[in-house]
Formats: sequence, structure tokens, C-alpha cells
Amino acid sequence: MEPCHPATMAAQALGWIDESTGALIPPVHPATTFVRDPDNQYRTGYSYGRPTNPTFIHPEALLSRLEGGAACLTFASGMAAATAVFLALRPGDHIVAPQVMYWGLRNWLKNAAAERGQVVDFVDASATDALASAMQPGRTKLVWIETPANPTWAITNIASAAEIARSAGARLAIDSTVATPVLTRPIELGADIVMHSATKYLNGHSDVMAGALVAARHDELWERIAAIRAGNGAILGSFEAWLLLRGMRTLYLRLERCCRTAQAIAEHFVGHRRIVASLYPGLPHHPGHAVAARQMLGGFGGMLSIRVAGGESAAIATAARVSVWKRATSLGGVESLIEHRASIEGPGSPAPPDLLRLSVGIEDAADLIGDLEQALAAG
Ligand SMILES: *Cc1c(COP(=O)(O)O)cnc(C)c1O
Repeated sequence: MEPCHPATMAAQALGWIDESTGALIPPVHPATTFVRDPDNQYRTGYSYGRPTNPTFIHPEALLSRLEGGAACLTFASGMAAATAVFLALRPGDHIVAPQVMYWGLRNWLKNAAAERGQVVDFVDASATDALASAMQPGRTKLVWIETPANPTWAITNIASAAEIARSAGARLAIDSTVATPVLTRPIELGADIVMHSATKYLNGHSDVMAGALVAARHDELWERIAAIRAGNGAILGSFEAWLLLRGMRTLYLRLERCCRTAQAIAEHFVGHRRIVASLYPGLPHHPGHAVAARQMLGGFGGMLSIRVAGGESAAIATAARVSVWKRATSLGGVESLIEHRASIEGPGSPAPPDLLRLSVGIEDAADLIGDLEQALAAG
């Protein structure tokens, strides 16, 4: 019987078993070069380590199945994956991107994409009409969205965005790092390309930098993206690829726990006297709640933010007093992280100065809530 539930496919890494040894776990192939057949062919499909590699094909095959895509490419980081999509567009192409998005990519779009002659309009992607009115039919080639979006967890309606992009002749690409294939399946909702910082939930243990793109179909844009990866060389190393596959085996289990605890934390702090706002799509008052409830499956994710009463200094002081939570950037690991987001994003950040971003791990929920309570109470 073919495994059909994604949690089964992930736990068993698609059921791979080595034919010669019976090994249940694929090996790491560190080889950078492969032997040519006497008749000058490369029948195995492998010739050199940059175009493709027998270790990273495993996480690529698994992620492609989990997303319901036609193909997947892994990269050296999430940024290498995301930028490959924009590098595959032409100078002069118009791009629509969200105002609230991963800050590193927003900076890249403002600087590097502009230098390449690409015109990027940043819009409120949570408002379907704002997205629609930014389209320039024939000239807009790509709509980029992120949902839930860093660091307010604004929600974009993926099916509506796909429709808007399609009717203007553009493609829809989505940064689905925070949602993961566990919670959202963007290709089923009409997205053309799904991007992940696999550094985050997919790997889940804060010990691998990796990125991935999944395509709804194998077309000419996808060919260009594959050529950019092979040419620019931002490939995933073999050891990282092996660790990534190992992390993905527990993806469904981890996400279930992260969602449950994040929901409990968000609900606990609603109306708390030291908090002016609790931002989490799982709360009924969150502006994206209704759309998130429709397009997210089984939970609202492991990311939330709180806005601390007393402004920036109170927020930074609160983060200084935690002990179970760790003060660090990044997200999606098994350990819970707290971060004053405006400090890392710098000038021009849309992150409110009183905002603390919380990445909820898999620890005991009462420990996490108790630690935040004491950090807030001391203020
Ligand atoms: C971390 C992150 C990225 C960038 O990924 P890297 O692996 O750090 O290059 C992009 N988007 C989101 C939502 C992220 O959290």
C-alpha cells in the first residue's frame, strides 16, 4: 500500500529503503564527482555535485509530495531560494510584493531587484482590492505573498491572490515558511511556486541553513530557476540535506504541538494588563482570522507577537527577564525564541517598537506561559 497521508510520508521519508543493504535511512553522499560510463554517458544522472546531488534529492522528493507539487529544488538558504525566483524574471518586469514580509527579502527587493531594473510595488496584501489595483496586466510578472506574514502574522487570501495574478497574466509565488505544508497547501489554492526557508520548521532543530522552492508545474520559468541554481551554485550541502530530511520526519508532530501551545499562549495573554495587543491568527479578533480559518488546516501556526504596554524600552526589558524562552532571532525550532523585532529589522521596519516576536517550540506550555508571566509582571 502506498502511504497516502502526508504525516506518514514524512515520518518514513517516502518509505525509502536502500536496495543493496536494506538500510532504512539514506546515506550522505559527499562525492562532488561521479564516474562516466565507458561509452561517455552519465547513466546514473549524476555528473558533478553542483547541478544535482544524490543526497538532496531525498528532501526534494519529500517536500514536493507534501506540497502536492511537480518538482522541488533545495538551496543553500531560504534567501537563495527566494532570490532565485526574482533572478529568473527579466529586467523591466513588474513585481507586486507585500508591505509586511520577511525583512531580509524586502531589503533585497528594494535594492538588488531595483538595480536589475525590476519595478517592485509593495502593497497591503491582506487587502484583496489593494492587491488587485496594483496589477499592471501584461507587465506584472510576479505576485509575491507571505502568509502568515512576519511579524504581525497578517493573512493573505491565497486563492484570491492566485486569481488576481492569473487574470493579469502573472504568477503567484508564496513564502510559506511559517505555514509549512502541514498547515497550508498553497498549490491546491492556485499558487505557482511555494518557497520555504527550510532553516525553520522543515528542519526544525536550528542546526541547518536551507531553502526550497516547489513548483506547481514544470515550465519554462522553472527551467530558468533550475539553471540559476546550477549556475550561481547556491546548492544545499550533502550533510545539511541529510539533516534536513531527518528533521522533516517529525514535521507533523512538531507542528501539532507548536500550534496547540501557541494558541494557548495567545489566549492566555488576551486582555493581560501588561500587553496592549496579542497578534495571532488563531484569535477571533485577529483581522485575518476568518481567512486563516478557511485556508489553514488544523492550526494557526507556532508564531505570535505581543505588544508590550510601555513601549520599546518595556518590550526590551521584558525580553531581558525571560529564562525558559531564549533571546534569539530565527524561528521554527524545537526551542522557544523571543525577539524584539524592530531591533533586528532596523530603520524602515514596519514592526511596531513595542513588539516582541515569539517562536513557540515544543516545551511544556505551562513553563512558557509562567516564564512570560514573570517577565511581564516584573515590569
Ligand atoms: C528565515 C526566513 C527567510 C530567509 O531564510 P534563510 O534560510 O534565513 O535564508 C525567508 N522567509 C521567512 C518567512 C523566514 O522566516
